[in-house]
Amino acid sequence: RGGVAEREVPFAKPGSLTRVYAVASGKGGVGKSSVTANLAASMAAQGLSVGVVDADIYGFSIPRMLGVEHRPTQVDDMIMPPTSHDVRVISIGMFVPGNQPVVWRGPMLHRALQQFLADVFWGDLDVLLLDLPPGTGDIAISVAQLVPGAEILVVTTPQQAAAEVAERAGSIALQTHQRLAGVIENMSWLELPDGSREEIFGSGGGREVAESLSRSIGADVPLLGQIPLDTRLRIGADQGMPVVLGEPDSPAAVALNGIAKGL
Ligand code: ADP
Repeated sequence: RGGVAEREVPFAKPGSLTRVYAVASGKGGVGKSSVTANLAASMAAQGLSVGVVDADIYGFSIPRMLGVEHRPTQVDDMIMPPTSHDVRVISIGMFVPGNQPVVWRGPMLHRALQQFLADVFWGDLDVLLLDLPPGTGDIAISVAQLVPGAEILVVTTPQQAAAEVAERAGSIALQTHQRLAGVIENMSWLELPDGSREEIFGSGGGREVAESLSRSIGADVPLLGQIPLDTRLRIGADQGMPVVLGEPDSPAAVALNGIAKGL
């Protein structure tokens, strides 16, 4: 640390009005970043002041999904986050040269997260979403230390194997004494042209995770919603236009907007 005093994390101050959600998953590829980006865009469209910290060291896909075109700038000793679709975004990928893979160690990641929370000029945020790396690693502990009031959102697919690891990711809240805001099931089904649903990844994972976490913490952990598979969601992500804004009538967007309103 070189003796330099760390700035206080504004979201950790008692009386902070910013709701902080840490979006977690057991494994990669379940749509955690897609959910984060769309919830952020949806809440910003509702008129809330929204920020996203992309702390997914293995993925850092948030800037692309939200169509962020600018880099952060520095004003005095604060970092100004670029904005897209009215969402302020900071990503670990913005500080990594080229497309280089980086070997992150726990303390480095903790330090990066501390800086993203304290040295970025967020202004008055209603909501801050943190896109965590998959798994139950050090970063969840860092979040708990840096923002004790952060609530955890668990993303899973309906698949049994995915649900089991998601449950482990969620149960970290037991140790860190954080609130579990709920479970979001993604890739729940594919709507076929005849209107029927094909459950490509099986069914029940989201409900199972919610029920099992409720049992272990002894409080209700709701299943906040089920998001179907939807080509438009993937295309929107690739084009930097979140499906909740670009195709608001698509089944995935309707589900995501519903979840965002309920948070
Ligand atoms: P994670 O952050 O969990 O690794 P991503 O959000 O990067 O997952 O999603 C993985 C891939 O699946 C991406 O290509 C994304 O566009 C796609 N995807 C995620 N959710 C859906 C969905 N409901 N329908 C269609 N494609 C999806």
